[in-house]
Amino acid sequence: MMTESLDTGWFTEVFDSHGSAFSLKVREKLWDVTSAYQHLEVYATETYGNLMVLDGCVMLSDRDNFLYHEMIAHPALFAHAAPKRVVIIGGGDCGTLREVLKHPGVEHVTLIDIDEEVTKAAERFFPALTESNDDPRAELKFADGVKWVDEADDESVDVMIIDSTDPVGPAEGLFKTDFLKRCHRLLRQGGVMVQQSESPLYHSGSIIRELRRDMRAAGFESVATLPFPQPVYPSGWWSVTLAGKGVDVKSFREADAAASDMTLDYYTAEAHRGALALPPFMRRAFEE
Ligand code: SAM
Repeated sequence: MMTESLDTGWFTEVFDSHGSAFSLKVREKLWDVTSAYQHLEVYATETYGNLMVLDGCVMLSDRDNFLYHEMIAHPALFAHAAPKRVVIIGGGDCGTLREVLKHPGVEHVTLIDIDEEVTKAAERFFPALTESNDDPRAELKFADGVKWVDEADDESVDVMIIDSTDPVGPAEGLFKTDFLKRCHRLLRQGGVMVQQSESPLYHSGSIIRELRRDMRAAGFESVATLPFPQPVYPSGWWSVTLAGKGVDVKSFREADAAASDMTLDYYTAEAHRGALALPPFMRRAFEE
């Protein structure tokens, strides 16, 4: 992918390999910093609020980040019988952390992002996403997620959320089979892992299919890919893939999800059930 930030007042991310692009009309560039890991920009747009961009790829906008953050957090947490200890790898914008902390049964969440600049920018330009960072159950660490997972205790985590950038650059190692094996060892019996898994339209027959195979090869007995809309990402459609250790991630605590009084904008028990009903083209692409 490459980006064009034009003087005409439009931000454009070009998806070269898919012959398409996404543009937003911008008012101004608010932030531009190059960290040890990546190039981070924040724009004020006309209609999507603030926009965060890492290495030219759109990460999130004020207007539609609720879709991604709710769908990476709640299906995994409701697929687990009683999640208490949660780990988030990546997710430095803290939107996923905020969603996880909405579950009253969760006792401790550790977020490990490689780049503190992402969290600093979120605190300044996306304050709603970081509003739960002072929750006493939240712990933020800035380190390489691959290394952190290597050193963590076996069977110590209930839910692992991999909220990473695309599988290039610093996030490459988060999509490798060895990393998935290590995640499997870290989870207690009944544990659930979830990973952002790119576009159903563009990647069902490649990245998503390979991730599902690799998750099974890592020891997970059940796997489920849930698509959901995401206007600012390539193709406007995105996915998360869940994997269960001794638990079927195609089912979930539906009554609890329906009875929950969390304030949400997209996730419901019905949306979860609907997302589990894969379209035929995805089932065919997975060859299962
Ligand atoms: N929603 C986004 C998406 O799908 O494009 C991802 C959001 S989040 C901002 C991605 C985060 O992953 C970034 O903050 C980046 O610093 C972090 N990250 C990338 N590689 C990492 C690694 N090896 N360990 C920990 N965090 C990593």
